[in-house]
Amino acid sequence: MIAVLKHGTTPDQTAHLVNWLKAMNLDVHISEGTEVTVLGLIGDTSRVDMDLLKSLEIVADVKRVSEPYKQANRKFHPKDTIIQCGDVRIGGGYFAMIAGPCSVESEEQIIEVAKAVKESGANILRGGAFKPRTSPYAFQGMKGEGIKLLLEAKKETGLPIVTEIMNISTLDLFSDVDIIQVGARNMQNFDLLKELGKTRKPILLKRGLANTIQELLMSAEYIMSEGNENIILCERGIRTFETATRNTLDLAAVSVLHELSHLPVVVDPSHATGKAKLVAPMACAAAAANCDGLMIEVHNNPSCALCDGAQSLTPHQFDELAHRVRLVREAVR
Ligand code: PEP
Ligand code: MN
Repeated sequence: MIAVLKHGTTPDQTAHLVNWLKAMNLDVHISEGTEVTVLGLIGDTSRVDMDLLKSLEIVADVKRVSEPYKQANRKFHPKDTIIQCGDVRIGGGYFAMIAGPCSVESEEQIIEVAKAVKESGANILRGGAFKPRTSPYAFQGMKGEGIKLLLEAKKETGLPIVTEIMNISTLDLFSDVDIIQVGARNMQNFDLLKELGKTRKPILLKRGLANTIQELLMSAEYIMSEGNENIILCERGIRTFETATRNTLDLAAVSVLHELSHLPVVVDPSHATGKAKLVAPMACAAAAANCDGLMIEVHNNPSCALCDGAQSLTPHQFDELAHRVRLVREAVR
């Protein structure tokens, strides 16, 4: 981190600031120019409050020269992280095809969808049991019962399962869940992230609706700072001025995240677009962008779905998507 001091700062003021910084266990390199003095802060600057430093009377500007995330940073961990979940691996060339309904609705529904998506090449089953809905009057999910049905589907098909947690008080219900999802709305629920950091479960961390790539990585850092390194990042579209799609899929995020971090990156084109017919083209585009997996909503009867029917594919449409994605992956390999 670099702090530029204002012209006219006295040696006393500079010494006072340097002592304050040293008290934070930082080494300070002072370089005095003819116009300005520049302080180079050396050491762990992740705990320095940049805004506070910037607000000081004698400080003209503060810049980070290293990222505030350490454990998620590729600089300190050049090799791709591979997440192991049952027999399935994600990252470092291993591809996750995650598919299933937005919400678990009944035993017949989840088993039927699970069998169909497995047949088409999915290797992980998704299904929401705790649903974060915009309206309190909308279907809120089958909760614990939904997780039991997912476990039934897992037993029936052998597919590992991923489902969303909304509140840490329900963690016990997730003991047999293979991957715990943190949804977009909870990406910055820091207490939840810290508690999940104390587990060793793989966490699928979705990007918030209005969060930057750096904020997503800082949320991953929250989980990692408690000891859990099993994180899969998920780009699921961000909110922009565009209204033609539910969100705007930020595909460049896949490449940016791969450059900045060693963690695997999965893309969810279902929530990103909100429209079934846009899901396959965006899934292919994400595969071409070298994502480590896809998360696709599939329903046996989308027009009757209790949640997100408009963006859900039929099992047949998913089968076609999976085939096209395989072709794209072979073509770009
Ligand atoms: C979901 O995957 O079911 C979901 C609610 O997604 P998001 O958090 O990305 O909106
Ligand atoms: Mn959904």
